[in-house]
Amino acid sequence: MIYIHVPFCRHKCSYCDFVSGTNIGLKDRYLSAVETEMDLRMCAGEVETLYFGGGTPSMLDVADIVKLRKMVEARFDVSGLVEWTVECNPEDMSEEFLCGLLAAGVTRLSVGVQSLDDEELRWMERRHNGEDALKAVLRAQNLGFDNISCDVIFGVPGNGLDKTLDGILALGVQHISAYSLMMEEGSKITKKKINGVCEEVSNQMYRKIVERLRNENFIHYEISNWALDGFVSRHNSGYWNGNAYLGFGPAAHSFDGSTERRWNIGNTLKYCSMVEKNELFWESETLSESDRFNEMVMLGLRKREGIDLIMMEELFGSERRDKFVRSMKKFERFVTLDNRRCALTEDGVFVSDMIMTEGFI
Ligand code: SF4
Repeated sequence: MIYIHVPFCRHKCSYCDFVSGTNIGLKDRYLSAVETEMDLRMCAGEVETLYFGGGTPSMLDVADIVKLRKMVEARFDVSGLVEWTVECNPEDMSEEFLCGLLAAGVTRLSVGVQSLDDEELRWMERRHNGEDALKAVLRAQNLGFDNISCDVIFGVPGNGLDKTLDGILALGVQHISAYSLMMEEGSKITKKKINGVCEEVSNQMYRKIVERLRNENFIHYEISNWALDGFVSRHNSGYWNGNAYLGFGPAAHSFDGSTERRWNIGNTLKYCSMVEKNELFWESETLSESDRFNEMVMLGLRKREGIDLIMMEELFGSERRDKFVRSMKKFERFVTLDNRRCALTEDGVFVSDMIMTEGFI
């Protein structure tokens, strides 16, 4: 699994504190630095999934996207690649750009729709309106993309959720991710102390999404993700399954699938100059046994299939497993338990934080 972080955006959205900036002038330096990073890390191996996220990867030219792909191909075996996702914002999805992505071999688009209500989009300071988003997805479908995910943000003040769900469902996309608005530390709304809706209303919105998508035959395979049969995100499932992954670019994280996690410096200019000078451009940590256990609980309970209790016993011993199972038994309505698995029920997903906390050590 390879993730490449593209740290450029046309404008900073009001709720965002991802590592991204409007300094597209750094693009060529960034592209070279990513290639140098790959060389410095002397990576090799097989890649099943490739994900270009951001930031806004669709701000790059198709030629740049192809360049990044070639960097990967020159160092890794991509003969078994099953999924290549590129995150796109609606305003970038011209026919020419989309045709370029198709020709390059991109198999999946993740589109930052967020809402189809123009008031809500203005509040979020997105650069598209609802009609732009609908047209962009339709254009991609007409050109031949048959694996499209739409991102939705709920919890923004307004009444646009029904309109957003209606519109996205009418398009017939294969995958939907819905995240609640968060007051992230560095975002404009946090700095200006502008709040979204209260927790109770946000929960009602989430419930509406869960019920609506269930009625439309979407599989709720992860707390914030829904897919039609056969369209779960292979790449993101890898994160939730605790697989190893490599991340390149500013702020990108990597994990060895066991105990070592590292993350690149989250400032594009510093990342470029440190990589250029071969200075230490990342930090790392070794996960303790309890970190790994808690991670297994948190990631596992987020998934519809839940936690593999046999694997839990193999990794952490029967005592830990038994203690965990005992801690889950009191949540009868919210958790399903058998000898092999522990998963949240349909009601359990609404109180997931409480249940996870109870399972942690
Ligand atoms: S939400 Fe996406 S498009 Fe908006 S600033 Fe953040 S990364 Fe860029």
